[in-house]
Amino acid sequence: MTTNNSAKASYSYYLQGGGEMGQLTRDFDWEGTSLGNPEGWSQSLLTTINIILNSKFPMFLWWGPELIQFYNDAYRPSLGQNGKHPKALGQRGLECWPEIWPVIKPLIDHVLETGEPTWSENQLIPIYRNNKLEDVYWTFGYSKVMNGTGEPGGVLVVCTETTGQVHSYNSVQAAKNELEFAVEAADLGTWDLNPVTYKFIGNNRLKQWFGLDGDEEIDLENALAAIVEEDRERVSAAIAKALEKGSDGNYNVIYTIQDKQGNSRIVEATGRAKFDANGNPHQFSGILQDVTEEYQLQMRKDEFISVASHELKTPITSLSASIQILQKLVKTDPGSEKVPMFVNKASNNLSKLTHLLDDLLNVTKIQQGQLALNINRFDLVDLIRDCCEHINPVNDYEFVFMGDEELMIYADYRRIDQVMINLIGNAIKYSPQKKRIEITIFHDDKNATVSIRDFGIGINPQKLPHLFDRYYRVDAFGHQFSGLGLGLYISSEIINRHNGKIGVDSEVGTGSNFWFSIPLDDTIEL
Ligand code: ADP
Repeated sequence: MTTNNSAKASYSYYLQGGGEMGQLTRDFDWEGTSLGNPEGWSQSLLTTINIILNSKFPMFLWWGPELIQFYNDAYRPSLGQNGKHPKALGQRGLECWPEIWPVIKPLIDHVLETGEPTWSENQLIPIYRNNKLEDVYWTFGYSKVMNGTGEPGGVLVVCTETTGQVHSYNSVQAAKNELEFAVEAADLGTWDLNPVTYKFIGNNRLKQWFGLDGDEEIDLENALAAIVEEDRERVSAAIAKALEKGSDGNYNVIYTIQDKQGNSRIVEATGRAKFDANGNPHQFSGILQDVTEEYQLQMRKDEFISVASHELKTPITSLSASIQILQKLVKTDPGSEKVPMFVNKASNNLSKLTHLLDDLLNVTKIQQGQLALNINRFDLVDLIRDCCEHINPVNDYEFVFMGDEELMIYADYRRIDQVMINLIGNAIKYSPQKKRIEITIFHDDKNATVSIRDFGIGINPQKLPHLFDRYYRVDAFGHQFSGLGLGLYISSEIINRHNGKIGVDSEVGTGSNFWFSIPLDDTIEL
């Protein structure tokens, strides 16, 4: 009796405390398990249980050949509300964890056989809790616990659930990926400058734009060197202003950068400096956007407005001068031989004005997708010959025709006439010294092709890619030749609407060869 009492006293001593799990462990009917009455438990088991129950760290124990289970209050939340708890206490491992037994049993066996502890971080081990199979992440280590006889008695699991951390990490990662995708899709450069060291990191696009390489931090000086000289100081000043104590930290500046090959790019940098408690800047980051196209379009638009005003003003001035003279003549000398001349002049200026306004209206139509086609069958060669006669009434240009003498096509007569007027008009306008213009018309089984070759001033190869853009004028600054820079844009839209192609080959000083081809059949969608 005395022995029994002291054994009882000693086991209950080890099972003291431990909150809810301590109580459940003490109350549990252990005789119904293979471990039997706690009186007979080994010192090793009791010590381990004592450690588990009195630890605030989540712990779990499998003991004996049947891997009977113990766990503490800290572990208990991992079992959820309506799941394994409290059944898991005293239960055999296999019965408790059927869903993950194939994963964990080999780990347990390995630890028991080799004595080597394991360590797993943020492992996904789905468990049944809260009435469903949940994806649960764990960081855990298994280690062997010896029994009193020098044999492995069980496996102690010290673990912590990291589901919350993994989810936060995943959502941060997902947000980062989304942001990277957006940055990539929007073709943005990104930068993050350390306001103390004046070194920064940038994404690949930014480094490519600035001609910088390497993964390390980059000296701001190296980036500034890629900015064209006339903009450099302005950018440095904008950075200094954003980083100034007491400033709002905003940074927005447009400047031009040039890579080592001499290609330039207009960029808009936008950023914000953040200040810490003592008012000093501690972070300065932002984005860089390639605004070359917008900027050039804007410049072309501004330029266009001044060119258009000028182009409209010239015939209006001349028209009103002719009308004033005519008014005078009507009063003083109505039968004067000058009358028809001034009427002619006025009429010419009026038709110039009508053409200019037509071009402007055409651009509006194109932009609104309202350039309607009126398809008919007609002879393209006839159209071109008529057009040349009309455009060259005094025969001071020599048109040389080559290729087909008749070519029936389906197209919009008026629109193709408009293209020809533009192309022949340009050939004349840009060949002030050379009077020969060669027009070749030919076809294959699918397309009709027309080329208009002049021997005039030619076009700088750098300008060729933009020639068919809206408002584009090569000589706009010099105003050597009049024009709105709309003719080729309108022509290319008309040819595109006919499912055709338009292009040019040109050499400065030698002349230009503009060509277009359109399908012979009438499959154009109207
Ligand atoms: P514009 O009203 O200025 O002539 P276009 O759209 O017809 O406008 O032409 C755009 C630019 O292309 C012109 O400003 C001119 O510099 C160039 N260009 C067009 N045709 C020729 C040509 N035959 N030879 C040389 N340059 C040309």
